[in-house]
Amino acid sequence: MDSEKVIQNCIEMIRIPTVNSMKGSASYQIEEYKNVLRSNFRSLFSLAETKEIGDALLLYIRGKKKDLLPVIFVGHMDVVAAPNEELWKYPPFSGKEADGCIWGRGTIDMKGVQCILLSAFDELLEKGFMPGRDIYLYLSCDEETGGATTSKAAEYLKSQGVKFQAVFDEGGSIGEKYMDRIPGRYAELAVAEKGSLAYEFTIHATGGHAANPPKDSAIVKMARLITAIEDTKIFRSEITKEARTVFNGLQKHMDEKDAEILESAMMEPAPFPKLHELYPHVDAMLGATIAFTVISGGTAFNVMPSEVKLIANVRVASNQNEDEITGKLQEIAEQYSAECRLIDGGNASKVTSEDAWAYKEMKSCLEKVFENINVFPTMLYGGTDSKHFQDMTKETIRFSPLYLEPWQCMGVHGVNECISKESLIRGEEFYRYFLSKL
Ligand SMILES: [Zn+2]
Repeated sequence: MDSEKVIQNCIEMIRIPTVNSMKGSASYQIEEYKNVLRSNFRSLFSLAETKEIGDALLLYIRGKKKDLLPVIFVGHMDVVAAPNEELWKYPPFSGKEADGCIWGRGTIDMKGVQCILLSAFDELLEKGFMPGRDIYLYLSCDEETGGATTSKAAEYLKSQGVKFQAVFDEGGSIGEKYMDRIPGRYAELAVAEKGSLAYEFTIHATGGHAANPPKDSAIVKMARLITAIEDTKIFRSEITKEARTVFNGLQKHMDEKDAEILESAMMEPAPFPKLHELYPHVDAMLGATIAFTVISGGTAFNVMPSEVKLIANVRVASNQNEDEITGKLQEIAEQYSAECRLIDGGNASKVTSEDAWAYKEMKSCLEKVFENINVFPTMLYGGTDSKHFQDMTKETIRFSPLYLEPWQCMGVHGVNECISKESLIRGEEFYRYFLSKL
């Protein structure tokens, strides 16, 4: 597509706020946003069969070969809020064009990606293109608030007996000089994502006046419980299947010496001191983590609370599962007379191999469009919409073909989110080539 048109599409998409957490206010204008998509990508919307699921859209384009399994591109239309507006260089919903970039909430996560995918597809269809296989596009509306609509969409597709050759979603991106160890540009394709489990802990106690406090009040017990959870070894640190896939993928791009250093670091017993030296944030890769995120209790300075609640978020890797972690947390909770309840979540994803069709196909297209690029696997610590489609496929690749400078990554869910125009233009070129190969 004409580069200027791609840029204009992106600006228009950024200008419409779609903050799902502020549904019911002017910050969530999903109908206006969908209207922009319908009018800017006319060929796509006129040729696709479209189904609305809640505020989300499911598009289906028929391909040439009936014997090939379809693929689905999953992406979200909603964005997170931009509360500290005064800290932004340009207003977050301005889509301001400045310094070679487009600025605004969603330029990276992920309207920029949606823009280049839809621009590329629309351009191809306008010229009479028919994909090799059936292609689904699922545009979700509540990824940033848990994806309840997406689980309905996945249920619908399952009820229709749909299976996918591959699921594509956002995730890794393009960068330069990977950790100062691999020269040149690189593209990281996320082949796995961790699961997310939310737990609620409740402690009851006799309330009463703060002037006559009982020993071991609910808040004191909760504090002890938190410390006990922190101090107990609940999570196993291991070279998980996903960590091995990532490290082995990296080794192929390293010089012999660095590859050997990494190999010997992996051979060490837990807690892998050398690996930590090499990769400061490796902990989250080698097993589950826990974060205490919400705590609530008393109502006044002079009243003892009769109930205290705590919410914790565990991000689980493939070496442990929901049942095992729930069992261990409940065991500790019991010692502090607390109830522990799993309130939400799911296990880690399957790991897509570097030998999978989707991985190889994307890698070869990246190497063709971005010359001399190093393509290797990575994993995500957070979750994507793709998790809802796990039962329908063996292959999931989470990747956004956008080049990001390290400082730009800070803009995701933060301030000054922006994407370079050059990055959008190259990304659209990539999607045009990739779609033509499906
Ligand atoms: Zn996102």
